[in-house]
Amino acid sequence: MEQVVNEMQNQKVADWGNYPVVEAETVRFDQADQLQVALGKPGEVIAYGNGRSYGDASLQKRVIMTRSFRSFLSFDAATGIVCCESGALLAELLEAFVPRGWFLPVSPGTKFVTVGGAVAADIHGKNHHVEGSFGAHVLALEVMRADGSVIRCSREEHPEFFTLTVGGMGLSGVIMNVTLQLKAIESAWMQQQTVRGSRLSELMDAFESDEDWTYSVAWVDTLAGGDALGRGLLMRGEHATAEQVQGRSVGAGTSQMKINVPLFLPNGLLNRGTMKAFNSVYYHRNQQPVRERLVHYESFFYPLDSIGNWNRIYGRRGFMQYQFVLPRATGRVAVEVILKKIQASGLGSFLAVLKLFGEQESFISFPMAGYSLALDFPVCFEVFKLMKELDAMVADWGGRLYLAKDARMDEAMFAKTYPHANDFREAIALLNGGSTRFSSLLSNRLGIT
Ligand SMILES: Cc1cc2nc3c(=O)[nH]c(=O)nc-3n(C[C@H](O)[C@H](O)[C@H](O)COP(=O)(O)OP(=O)(O)OC[C@H]3O[C@@H](n4cnc5c(N)ncnc54)[C@H](O)[C@@H]3O)c2cc1C
Repeated sequence: MEQVVNEMQNQKVADWGNYPVVEAETVRFDQADQLQVALGKPGEVIAYGNGRSYGDASLQKRVIMTRSFRSFLSFDAATGIVCCESGALLAELLEAFVPRGWFLPVSPGTKFVTVGGAVAADIHGKNHHVEGSFGAHVLALEVMRADGSVIRCSREEHPEFFTLTVGGMGLSGVIMNVTLQLKAIESAWMQQQTVRGSRLSELMDAFESDEDWTYSVAWVDTLAGGDALGRGLLMRGEHATAEQVQGRSVGAGTSQMKINVPLFLPNGLLNRGTMKAFNSVYYHRNQQPVRERLVHYESFFYPLDSIGNWNRIYGRRGFMQYQFVLPRATGRVAVEVILKKIQASGLGSFLAVLKLFGEQESFISFPMAGYSLALDFPVCFEVFKLMKELDAMVADWGGRLYLAKDARMDEAMFAKTYPHANDFREAIALLNGGSTRFSSLLSNRLGIT
């Protein structure tokens, strides 16, 4: 009988924010029976996709690395239904299927996310208000549980387990295969419209003035004050038709990085002065109030991916992303108050992204109908203090934080802001009865496991 060998290693592991960094036993597998063997070892364990969550969602003392498990299993060219192993990157799906006229149904701000990670965090894109989150386009899953058994689940087959797994942050088991409905496109290009908002209310008016655009997202200048508080650029987009792109290539486009940050930069290089200068140039680069142009999907969806390891610009101490969503009724006022609070603290955020979500009902997925703002901050004592104060404001206004970006929220905040937190915890406890248990540093911290 052939021996089943898992590649095991002790190493330092972190997610994208480089905070926290933990010493973990990592286990790689590229066959299902290897995964079964790995799960036979008792203790706490969690799946790790490509580490593009920001905090500690895929960290634990023992981590199952899924990236080598990434074959495409089937594709129906007539319907656009693809089945692949969970370690495949969204980038690999794009490369294979854009030239055939199919695109991802939902895309995050980076294509270097695994399909398993996309399901587990039930990720959202710029089209959430019209097309929902990633899970809405998943047709079926195969998940290995702690006892090595495999459950095939969908909305029809084991529907409760399916609901628990989509957005379940890896706590129901290791997702092995994902069957996904892709979206038909006629070209690799996007019709992009950029609208300038000279203050937050103008930017939000622009969002709400036309919600029929399939994709919309805004960059916000968090350092502009006074009348210009919350100024920014709203980018809207539609997939361009064949007629609109006549003469242009319909190929997948380049997935190569143009620049790479080879080392951690010294802490403090990214300071208020450099950020303010960058923001001003970026904002004023767009001279017209409304600008229309044809752009490649790479530059529309993944502008940050052209800079390899850009997370290193925050230095070795790392950084945290604070992404919250607030109900639409309170969002307009609340986002402005929060921006003022951040300004008063003297702590600037280099990257700030605003989105308007549509409705969503699920266990512990992040989106709800309303405004979501994502802000990046370098790790330091003052940032923890500020975030704690922001937590109270977000919770009071009926909002919540995104688990895939979190490294520090406390149990009380999670329980208060996620209405199904307790049901989720109970359901996971029932599944986690054996000697091998799925849990992450995130789920331990939030009292889920
Ligand atoms: C630049 C950037 C932009 C981003 N933009 C967005 C955005 O627009 N929208 C959005 O929603 N998110 C966004 N994200 C976050 C990212 O999409 C999610 O955190 C995603 O889950 C990361 O996937 P990953 O494969 O890297 O998984 P990891 O980060 O390694 O893991 C994330 C979670 O998925 C679980 N998981 C991973 N693989 C499996 C598996 N096979 N089985 C079970 N559980 C598994 C892990 O246990 C963990 O809980 C962004 C991240 C970056 C770095």
